[in-house]
Amino acid sequence: MSQSKRAVVTGGAGFLGSHLCDALLVEGWNVVVVDSLLTGRLSNIEHLRNEPRFEFIEKNICDPFDPGPVDYVFHFASPASPVDYATHGIHTLKVGSFGTFHALGVAKKYSAKYLVSSTSECYGDPLEHPQKETYWGHVNPIGPRSVYDEAKRFTEAVTMAYRRYHNVDTRIARIFNTYGPRMQLNDGRVIPNFMKQALRGDDLTVYGDGSQTRSFCYVSDEIDGFMRLAKSDEHLPVNIGNPTEFTILECAQQVLKVTGSKSKIRYEPLPQDDPKQRRPNISKARQLLGWEPKIDIETGLGLSLDYFRKAVAEEAAVK
Ligand code: UDP
Repeated sequence: MSQSKRAVVTGGAGFLGSHLCDALLVEGWNVVVVDSLLTGRLSNIEHLRNEPRFEFIEKNICDPFDPGPVDYVFHFASPASPVDYATHGIHTLKVGSFGTFHALGVAKKYSAKYLVSSTSECYGDPLEHPQKETYWGHVNPIGPRSVYDEAKRFTEAVTMAYRRYHNVDTRIARIFNTYGPRMQLNDGRVIPNFMKQALRGDDLTVYGDGSQTRSFCYVSDEIDGFMRLAKSDEHLPVNIGNPTEFTILECAQQVLKVTGSKSKIRYEPLPQDDPKQRRPNISKARQLLGWEPKIDIETGLGLSLDYFRKAVAEEAAVK
């Protein structure tokens, strides 16, 4: 990627989007963020305020938008945590549909490359384990998670259609659970919940019996995967996630260990359609991108500790 190029990042004020902006700036890009700030936060991009190669446009991409000529469209806008997409269900469907048409329209207009952040939710509550990109998934189209799952499946469909019908140079990253600094303390995801609870000495809320599994990728590994995919010519979906699988109970124990907390575990009901297991098969990313996550969960939680400590202290100061 050359020095003077310009990229637009939808959702660039979000957790992943803002880390992506940092990586693009390091590689010499000019970066424009388009974000409605519904779930994104200015604090995530505050450190870029005086960066001359950075620009922020506050806009909801469900309406058409035009950032001017760009060489790359990174389409990252969408509520992404189960609590956020349950709260903003219809908006989530609109961002995945209208927002995706608009993002692809920008790529088409400026002959820009395009990469979209899709999700392991495309696999639903999977019957194949671990999940390969060729697996079509097991999704409840009318359940509470469908606003996100189906929006993202539709996002992938629109992306492939723009490639087939309009020759847009597209890429699709399927993201598995990712964590790290800048996650919202109250977005309801398991790592922020457990970190907050552990640091406050509250009980850790394990849903169900905690035997369901997830595979957690530290944010710097995830961003490295996106950057490699962005530079590749692969247009079919690529899983970007850490293949080391933990039960949620093991995840709680890791958080207790890293924080040194004496919090207890409290069991709460399992949400409807909560996937029983999630683990990416990353053979394709390994082979195609030479990508391999490097940071194990204990290290990653350790790297996230300062951020969560500050977030908990800030929240306590406001109350
Ligand atoms: N979970 C939990 N306690 C919490 C939050 C989440 O046990 O306080 C569980 C949740 O039921 C799911 C897993 O942790 O099985 C991951 O949930 P998250 O909301 O982080 O993301 P998901 O992978 O379900 O999209």
